[in-house]
Amino acid sequence: MSDDEDKRADDSAAKGAGKGAGERAGEGAGQGEAITPDVIVVPMRRDNYAYVVADESGRACFIDPCEADVAERVLVERGLTLVAVLSTHYHSDHTGANLALASAHSGLRVLGSAVDADRIPALTEALRPGDSFSIGSLSGYVLDVSCHTRGHIAFVFGRALFTGDALFAGGCGRFFEGTGEDAYRALYQSLGRLPDDMLVYFGHEYTLRNLEFAAAIDPSNAAVHAKLRVVRSLVEERRPTVPTTLGEERAYNPFLRAHVETVARGVRARIPATDLHSPASVLAGLRRLKDSF
Ligand code: FE
Ligand code: ZN
Repeated sequence: MSDDEDKRADDSAAKGAGKGAGERAGEGAGQGEAITPDVIVVPMRRDNYAYVVADESGRACFIDPCEADVAERVLVERGLTLVAVLSTHYHSDHTGANLALASAHSGLRVLGSAVDADRIPALTEALRPGDSFSIGSLSGYVLDVSCHTRGHIAFVFGRALFTGDALFAGGCGRFFEGTGEDAYRALYQSLGRLPDDMLVYFGHEYTLRNLEFAAAIDPSNAAVHAKLRVVRSLVEERRPTVPTTLGEERAYNPFLRAHVETVARGVRARIPATDLHSPASVLAGLRRLKDSF
């Protein structure tokens, strides 16, 4: 239940690969740069993160809440009015509070992937990749990051990116319903359009363990060791490691570095059949190795 890491692999190689970086990096369709809201980080269960974003009048949405009592307490403390819940995917550690919140807040909108529409509790708005939506005066849009689940989506508000279990700091979620090719599409193609200064808000506090894996696979990468030092002291002080930036992730996260020689060789050394020239194959190998790390 805890190790439902997603996969993702994005990096600078993909950005050069003709995908129009910035195409939907928050500067959408002629309306100027979308507002980047303040984000409230709300730890839930043992290692889940839910998030709240609100507009200037206090109209708020909760992203991936699984504990309604914790969610309600945060809303009261902050004086916010809940207008929507956003679900990155259907797993209960991301949707466990949907029903209770929907019955406590009449007219509550619940937004999630059309692919998972019948599995996301209390869903009211089925979204497709590329769709945009409003929460009060804030505007967001949807990216396809399917692989952990077939309908996994990410949400973007300005420079804030909510990845659920598709991308973690230093790692990604398990490929429950997808392959290395799906991971490549999610992490390199979908997220590859986004700039390095995107703030990454992920679904679980697995950062330390992820970086230990990264250090094992890619031991010559100084960025891994530097981040490990920072994360060790955060964890010691029981502080969250969220958010990171996409630029940082591209420097140390092996799932965004599957195209990098040293990462490919790290996988190949452990799984000799890996095709070093296919990032999708390296991603599949990385995931297999991480599953038993
Ligand atoms: Fe999860
Ligand atoms: Zn999950």
